[in-house]
Amino acid sequence: MNWFSCVVRAESDKIYGVQEEYVNDKRDNKINLSIGVFRDQNGQSFVPQSVINCEQMLFTKNCSKEYAPIEGFKDFRQSVAKFIYGEDSDVIINERHATVQGLGGTGSLRIGAIFLYELVSVNKTVYIPYQTWSPHNQVFSNSGFQIKHYRYWNQRTLNLDFEGLINDFENMIDYSVVVLHSIAHNPTGIDPTLDQWNQIIDVIQRKKLFPFLDCAYQGFASGDLQRDGVVNTLFAKRVNQMAIAMTFAKNMGLYGDRIGALSIVCQTKQEAHNVLTQLKAIIRPIYSHPPNWGALVVHHLLSDHHLRSQWFIDVNNMYTRIQDIRNQLINELNRLSDGKTNWDFMANQRGMYGFTGFSQTQVFQLKQQFAIYATLDGRINIAVINQNNIKHIAYAMHCIKLQIM
Ligand code: PMP
Repeated sequence: MNWFSCVVRAESDKIYGVQEEYVNDKRDNKINLSIGVFRDQNGQSFVPQSVINCEQMLFTKNCSKEYAPIEGFKDFRQSVAKFIYGEDSDVIINERHATVQGLGGTGSLRIGAIFLYELVSVNKTVYIPYQTWSPHNQVFSNSGFQIKHYRYWNQRTLNLDFEGLINDFENMIDYSVVVLHSIAHNPTGIDPTLDQWNQIIDVIQRKKLFPFLDCAYQGFASGDLQRDGVVNTLFAKRVNQMAIAMTFAKNMGLYGDRIGALSIVCQTKQEAHNVLTQLKAIIRPIYSHPPNWGALVVHHLLSDHHLRSQWFIDVNNMYTRIQDIRNQLINELNRLSDGKTNWDFMANQRGMYGFTGFSQTQVFQLKQQFAIYATLDGRINIAVINQNNIKHIAYAMHCIKLQIM
């Protein structure tokens, strides 16, 4: 008897599979643009100073290591909800939300997906944008959902396919769940305008769809944390019921602390109470209690006036670095191409990524010829680029685009 003879090799993760290949690459000049982690101008991993200060303050407090409640610390849940919806929003005033701590954005999405599938979804269908952050597919299909996609990126105009998107929304099955990126869409870096968001909400209401927002890059689209929350607050104002998965991995640099939240907006306080009990019932047999540290950091950062202001400045500085280097990359690409092709479309993109529009073959060539790793959909992490590697990366992209090899 061999218990494992039936176990075949699983397909690699679309993003971390690239990382594994990169690690095994023996070339000295290799560059990994595939993973979504912010780097400073020296290529070093980065924790904002406000977060470092917050952690140092917490170290002096001898924080308890006892179990947190299943749903997470109350203080954390309240400060996150206020951060998402605004202190004087109706959702907060009337306590119409069930907010639980989640294991990063992924864990929060997964708890939300299980809840929706098992307890409320009418037709067990979820619509996800194409393109999207690839794990969305597995998070929802592993929870039981049937996955469908709606149009997002127009490969011809290298911009948002708003007409296609609205058309697909109009044709969605009523009462389905629809996943939307709140801000700095991953991988394209293109978001709808406020007017377009309002049109999207109109269709959502007409078709009785359930919006599930994924907010992973608040602060990275405009440099202003508050301004980047506008889609979350707009939805909360206009839609009675919705879900948001929030992660603080990127904007607080707390990747490995696995700290995020799932917040479900309900119609009444009683409904929110019932939903919270169900979320706890889902969490308990999976990981039982969330980790303490990240929640303490996030709560103190959000609730201490001084630390919070410092954090807003830190995020603005991260944004500025990304935008500066993005513009330098585009200038260098345009200089090299000397009118033969135009890279200006990348200047509209926001957030940590650049979406090159490269095909899978071109991504493969980038790896083979230049030891530069992008994700298969043509996404590059702009925050990995610095003065030491920008010329090489721009030259490689230029050659791939014009097939000079
Ligand atoms: N959603 C999107 C759009 C993301 O880009 C990411 C992280 N890359 C996540 C969710 C997951 O975040 P976390 O790492 O906190 O699980």
